[in-house]
Amino acid sequence: MPAEASTAPEAATLESEVEPVLSARGLVKEYGVFRAVDGIDLELRAGEFLTIFGPNGAGKTTLLSLLGGRLRPTGGEVRVGGEPLDFSVTRWRRRIGVVSHQGMLYAHLTAAENLRFFGRLFDLDDLDERIRLRLEQVGLTDRADFEAGQLSHGMRQRLALARALLHDPELVLLDEPYTGLDPHAASVLRSVLSALRDGRRTVVMVTHNLTQGLRMATRIAVQVRGRFAWEGARSDVDAAGFEAFYHRVVEDGR
Ligand code: ATP
Repeated sequence: MPAEASTAPEAATLESEVEPVLSARGLVKEYGVFRAVDGIDLELRAGEFLTIFGPNGAGKTTLLSLLGGRLRPTGGEVRVGGEPLDFSVTRWRRRIGVVSHQGMLYAHLTAAENLRFFGRLFDLDDLDERIRLRLEQVGLTDRADFEAGQLSHGMRQRLALARALLHDPELVLLDEPYTGLDPHAASVLRSVLSALRDGRRTVVMVTHNLTQGLRMATRIAVQVRGRFAWEGARSDVDAAGFEAFYHRVVEDGR
């Protein structure tokens, strides 16, 4: 029996009434003959937090780049708020915040100047106050006047997070945000991510950290060879047995 058939009619009606913030249909990205992303479907509503796990080379970063409009798909489409994504248009960028491997910070600008530069691109109101709040939120108030290039890796990660959230985006895409963070910085990140689960935002996070990834998620996907080998609600997985489950899904998906 198809999964939809078992859904209670009233639940199905409610779900269909809420417009997905992010949706992808048949998403494909090819590099030559190699498919890095191989037919991914996705639908996320406000308040959902999807964690994507998967082995090296599974196409997770490529998928995030497609979802954020930084890569053009070979096939399929991405919609944000029901409209096809066009990242060349500023109003899209205003709706999305990204923390990626690239960092997207200017090494010779200070932490505060990086945020100011970004905020001016979006013509944000109350920029000084936004900058103050975000630096405080990620614990970088005392580094506001340090050049980004002089910050440690973990501090740059935190600045990248402040930058990604400065414009209060409705969709937040995070690629390995825990990499290189010390335990204190990881707990700062956890509290920033918890604050994002306010029902207004939609978050997609890629991580190899099973514990942190599970803790935050409302939905979980395991990506293997460009496809979701498993995707479902966080409540459908048992935290204690998740590592074994993950390894099984990866082995079966290879
Ligand atoms: P990791 O966990 O190691 O970060 P990932 O799941 O994020 O891996 P991707 O970085 O998305 O994987 O890469 C998926 C595949 O696509 C890899 O085999 C990679 O070599 C390939 N790939 C990524 N970018 C390019 C590119 N610009 N040109 C050719 N191949 C690419």
